[in-house]
Amino acid sequence: MKKAILVISVSLTLFNLVLGQPFENPDSVKIEKMFDNYFREFIKLNPEEASQLGLSRKSGYDYNRDGLNDLSDGGIKANYNLAKKYLDRLAKIDKAGITRSQRIDATILKWLLGIQLEGEKYVDHRYYIDHLTGVHSQITNLLTEYHTIDGLQDASDYLQRLEKYPLRLKQTMMRINTQEKKGIYPPVYIIDRVKSQMEDFLKVQPDSNLLYLNFKQKLTPIDSVTAERLCKKARQTLKEKIYPAYAEFIQRLKLSSSKADSLAGVWKLPYGEKYYGYCLKLLTTSSLTPEQVYQLGQDEVRSLQEQIRLLLDSLGIRGDKTYGELIREYWALWNNSENRDKFYYPDAPDRNQIILSDYQSLIDSTWKRLPELFSYLPRTKVLVLPVPKFKEAGGLTYYEPASLDGKRKAVFYINMMQPLAKPNMRSLTYHETIPGHHYQIAVQQELTQNRMFKNLWFLAGFGEGWAMYVEDLAKESGWLPDIYSRVAELNSQLFRAVRIVLDAGIHYKKWTKEQAMGYMQDNLGWSSSDEIDRYLVWPGQACSYTLGKLKIMQLREKAKKELGSKFNIKDFHMKVLENGSLPLEILVEVVDDYIKSP
Ligand SMILES: [Zn+2]
Repeated sequence: MKKAILVISVSLTLFNLVLGQPFENPDSVKIEKMFDNYFREFIKLNPEEASQLGLSRKSGYDYNRDGLNDLSDGGIKANYNLAKKYLDRLAKIDKAGITRSQRIDATILKWLLGIQLEGEKYVDHRYYIDHLTGVHSQITNLLTEYHTIDGLQDASDYLQRLEKYPLRLKQTMMRINTQEKKGIYPPVYIIDRVKSQMEDFLKVQPDSNLLYLNFKQKLTPIDSVTAERLCKKARQTLKEKIYPAYAEFIQRLKLSSSKADSLAGVWKLPYGEKYYGYCLKLLTTSSLTPEQVYQLGQDEVRSLQEQIRLLLDSLGIRGDKTYGELIREYWALWNNSENRDKFYYPDAPDRNQIILSDYQSLIDSTWKRLPELFSYLPRTKVLVLPVPKFKEAGGLTYYEPASLDGKRKAVFYINMMQPLAKPNMRSLTYHETIPGHHYQIAVQQELTQNRMFKNLWFLAGFGEGWAMYVEDLAKESGWLPDIYSRVAELNSQLFRAVRIVLDAGIHYKKWTKEQAMGYMQDNLGWSSSDEIDRYLVWPGQACSYTLGKLKIMQLREKAKKELGSKFNIKDFHMKVLENGSLPLEILVEVVDDYIKSP
């Protein structure tokens, strides 16, 4: 899954939805209101996140639908003040008087607000020049993917957002000034990537610009005369305001580029090591130190490679070689002429249709097997669609949850430009759809108590950890039919374990980018500069997958051991999922409670 946000359905009532009864205890009523108010205040400060959630006008949640986030000092301070205010309020609630689910959610909110405030001392550490989530891609995503147009008001909000885009760029430049005064620069090649992305934006005329084409395409509910007037305005804003603002930003990037170095890790920043520790805590939600994470990654890489070597050995692939050499030998088998069709889809006119329908069949057959391991079957379905043309070059196959207003369905997007080899499809489908991301999110949508604040963060330690856990679970449960899909699953796990070593290697052990590429080549059999660049701008995130999986597995083994014959896998899964996403530290408490009273 690629998005930072999860989804549940909207409810405006302060009811205990599990019981269908209003809360009776005053503290219960108070905390439910507090959860709701926090969300309402948050979206007012952060209209970009609100649009990403997809809150329809009828939902009753108000925010500046024509606004952008305020990156001025005051705007940033307001977010910290909000966190402080609600931490204070949470502290005043009597925990004895609220329900169990409220207690868990209060602990989650406290954890999230606490980690946000802990980050205040690193307020200028996150790179504002970032090729993945920098201002240019954030606003493009906001307008093209999340800003829906159902009528004239939405269209004029879109135009207003275009008008405000230059200010957002200016504020970002001010943040860059502040961080550079503190000696905070991303690696020079990241700055150059952003510069070339922004130059590409200016290469086309406004009437061929993505922001314009997308706007024009979304104006179908509006009559043609009005639509043409709106289009003219959009072209004008792009030409007269946004293009010059981009040109100014590019000049600013040139200045940054001339001063930056090529050191890869955040260890080079002021208090860099502490900052990396913070990133790990924020993004994995575990409390392991960088050294522990680095060691754990290495142990996991070794163990997975040993398991894969055993499987390869049974296929006659062996010898005193690096893991990378062995696995490349194995992949070479797939490419010889008698095997090709077994492992790849032949180039035929209906190839895309066959691929999509194979993914659909995989989901359908998995759906039938869910009762073997899960007691709850979600109502929400997931569609299989090709990745939109303009995104194909990115190479990703990904899952996108539904929007809160239900206008955007949950979709598993398949990249047709680079379709996966057949043995790799199963683990990916389990990961992205059921019982992985889609299942977890559907349970959250359908069973948690409609507390909107829970949609604001995607907790990767939990969400990605769960998706990696189910890949493993599928293997244990005999859902991988042959040796090729088992090698693929182990390779998928290995990739995430290698990520840990790379992330901690770069940001903590001071590896160069070249060292990281070499490690990847030796330990995965392939390397990618793009992949490494992702770790550079998103320190800690790459560790969330395996750390989360290991934590869930560890908790399952603990529950099995302590509960003996009372242990039931379906109950365990329900306990892990029933509160929605939660920090791993809190998951430990939830499972401990389950062990005490199963
Ligand atoms: Zn994932």
